[in-house]
Amino acid sequence: MSEILSALIRGGDRDDHVRLRLVQTLYTQPNTLSVGALAGCAAAVSVAAIMRTPLTSLLAGLLLIVGLCRIGAASWLARSGARGDARRLELAYAAGAFAYALLSGVLAAVVLYMAPPAEVQVLAVASTLIFGVGMSACCAGRPRIAIGQMLLSVMPVVLVAAAAGGIVLPTLAACLLLALWGMVAITLSSYRTLKEQIAAAEASGRMAENMRRLARTDVVTGLLNRAGLNHDLVELLMGLPENRKLAMFWLDLDKFKEVNDTLGHPVGDRVLAEVAKRLRAQVPQGSVLSRFGGDEFIVVADVADRRESERLAGAIADEIAQSLRLDGRRIDISTSMGVALLPDDAPDIDTLMQGADLALYHAKVGGRNQVCFFDTSMTRAFVRKKEIEAELRAAIARDELSIFFQPIVDLDTGRIRSFEALVRWFHPEKGELRPDEFIPVAEETGVIITLGNWITAQAARACAQWPEDVTIAVNLSPVQLRAPGAALGILTALREAGLDPRRLELEVTESLFLDDNQHTARFIEELSAVGVRFALDDFGTGYSSLGYINKFPFCTIKVDRSFVSGPNVGRKSDAIIRAVAEMGNTLDMEIVAEGLETIDQVHAVRNAGCTLGQGYYFSRAVPDYLAAMLLAQEREESPDLRRAAP
Ligand code: C2E
Ligand code: CA
Ligand code: CA
Repeated sequence: MSEILSALIRGGDRDDHVRLRLVQTLYTQPNTLSVGALAGCAAAVSVAAIMRTPLTSLLAGLLLIVGLCRIGAASWLARSGARGDARRLELAYAAGAFAYALLSGVLAAVVLYMAPPAEVQVLAVASTLIFGVGMSACCAGRPRIAIGQMLLSVMPVVLVAAAAGGIVLPTLAACLLLALWGMVAITLSSYRTLKEQIAAAEASGRMAENMRRLARTDVVTGLLNRAGLNHDLVELLMGLPENRKLAMFWLDLDKFKEVNDTLGHPVGDRVLAEVAKRLRAQVPQGSVLSRFGGDEFIVVADVADRRESERLAGAIADEIAQSLRLDGRRIDISTSMGVALLPDDAPDIDTLMQGADLALYHAKVGGRNQVCFFDTSMTRAFVRKKEIEAELRAAIARDELSIFFQPIVDLDTGRIRSFEALVRWFHPEKGELRPDEFIPVAEETGVIITLGNWITAQAARACAQWPEDVTIAVNLSPVQLRAPGAALGILTALREAGLDPRRLELEVTESLFLDDNQHTARFIEELSAVGVRFALDDFGTGYSSLGYINKFPFCTIKVDRSFVSGPNVGRKSDAIIRAVAEMGNTLDMEIVAEGLETIDQVHAVRNAGCTLGQGYYFSRAVPDYLAAMLLAQEREESPDLRRAAP
């Protein structure tokens, strides 16, 4: 009994969700309710028709009205899924059920009291009792309602029966009370089972949702991972209003690998988390944010136009560029970003991603720390580059590349002091390809590392065959130099060729010093220590900073050919060459004038103070056997030196 009371007093379940599900069970069987109500109404109307008293007619009439209202409400709510406020749904059901139970119970009690023929009493009492008992099964989801209905329908009969004389009716009253007690116990136990099942289903549903969410989340940043991005992108696209666009921002942090390598992965992870935090703060509500593996992030936002996407891209880049402090240490990061818009640049998500990726590629190749918007030319340029890359790899394997040598001549004696190794590619279909066409691609793709090692090895081998006073100059790309083990690769090439390191000069350009100074300095120091020399190539085209010349041990400066020939040559360029040559003489450096094509140019640079010259006037770059012939010829002409040669 205490359970009954507590069930009645508790007045419901604390978990609103479970409660709603339980309330919904009341409405799951509108047909059962309708049949039960119709049967009860039919019995009541029959009894009233037989008895013809105003009270029974009134009770039967009211019962019919309430019964019909309940049938209508139940089938309407069942069709609409019985959604909404659980408390109101429950109240509506309880009002109908209690009214019906009370009317049915009172009618049966009145009939029992009036004592018409036995079959009429049986009809009235039995139909009421069946209704009352049936409720315990039907409404187990809300025990208050089930028990309330049972009491309201059965108790009037019990009271009248108990008060009647004799032993039959009081015995009936006692039996009904016992049955009531049993039915209440059954109701409560069914309720508990039902509730547990619903709670378990809810819990496993929640767990499954949790797992799904975790599978779509990146643990380091809490942003979406790839799977999450795909899922949310589709949703974002489906909800995109007609007049809006989707802007995809694909970010790749610059030099993040260095953060990881120098400060360790835990710090790297914190930097990523900080970037995620900054992104969250910048992007508009409803944007999709994801970490696309490594140090790449993708943001997709719904924008009005291209201008808005430009503003957003700028804001994101600025925010990331703010230096951050971790454990008192300052870390500066920047990002390269590719942006593409749907539908402007792409009709679907896949193409949008390709567009943003291509734009990002351009941002990275264009020097990083910049934003690039997709445009159609990128596809063509990209395809061309990819072609060259694939062909270049094949060309190295098929031996289509060779090294040509261009003499560098002493302007005083006219003798060859050195050769510059210049790579040539003889393509079976396209003919000879200039290094300017494929060296940049080789640099972008990293192929230059393999290619560069091969060039150094070939050049060293050729030089080892020449007289000892002739040296070799090899161009070194910054990418090559930054590769791990770069110095070792060069030392190995020298050792294998048996070439004295002092006979090798590495030509580098100023672009090398734009970043990564420490690594560059170490590389130069390491090789200088064994005697390798360095030349500053293309001087005058870049920053032409004297700082580099002061800082690094250059033996040679190569004045770019634009100072020797071309539209800009004149008094100004002549003055510049003079200044550089003077500085070179003071610092004991060789000054090479590049691109000498005429005798006048040779005289001019010589008068300006250059010590060495290189250009078509002396010779184009030639294959190794012709280089050897040039040397032999020269030494035949001056027997003294030939004798001096080994
Ligand atoms: P660079 O280092 O400035 O090389 C000199 C370039 O000027 C060569 O072009 C050479 O053929 C050209 N040249 C020489 N004399 C004259 C002249 O009198 N007039 C004119 N107009 N040009 C002259 P090339 O061989 O096409 O090389 C172009 C660039 O490609 C080189 O410029 C260098 O930066 C790069 N490169 C060439 N070979 C290699 C290599 O083996 N490794 C690397 N990393 N880069 C290379
Ligand atoms: Ca060069
Ligand atoms: Ca040059």
